Amino acid sequence: MKIHHAEATVKTGGHVTVENVTHHVHAELERSGIGSGIAFLSVPHTTCGLALNEDERGLREDIRRLAQKLLEPLASAKPFLHNCVDDNAQAHLTSILLGHSVAVPVLRHSLDLGTWQSVFLIEMDGPRSRTLRIQILGE
Ligand code: ZN
Repeated sequence: MKIHHAEATVKTGGHVTVENVTHHVHAELERSGIGSGIAFLSVPHTTCGLALNEDERGLREDIRRLAQKLLEPLASAKPFLHNCVDDNAQAHLTSILLGHSVAVPVLRHSLDLGTWQSVFLIEMDGPRSRTLRIQILGE
């Protein structure tokens, strides 16, 4: 079995944004030469997340709003304690719900994504420079 490790830098363009990072994974898969296995993607951060979904402009905005507003009712019911530290509790908590990793099967030298699936990095406390870790395991 081969293991290919790589990192890509993703500069996010605003406070809460949805970035399509699929091309980084395609590029590393090609570089790896791996034809069959799994691509494990993760972000070493506590205020962004990863998700698979459709890259349609309206839906990207819907996802952005979801990330921005999901916990607002909770925040207005009782202020988050971490906001006393650096005022980004909502970003930390939403990133827990989204998750920090995604696994995608690799088949015949390509990512076995559904027709409408892309890999998104969802920024919740930007703009920042984020690291996307790409590990591809297989043969
Ligand atoms: Zn914080």
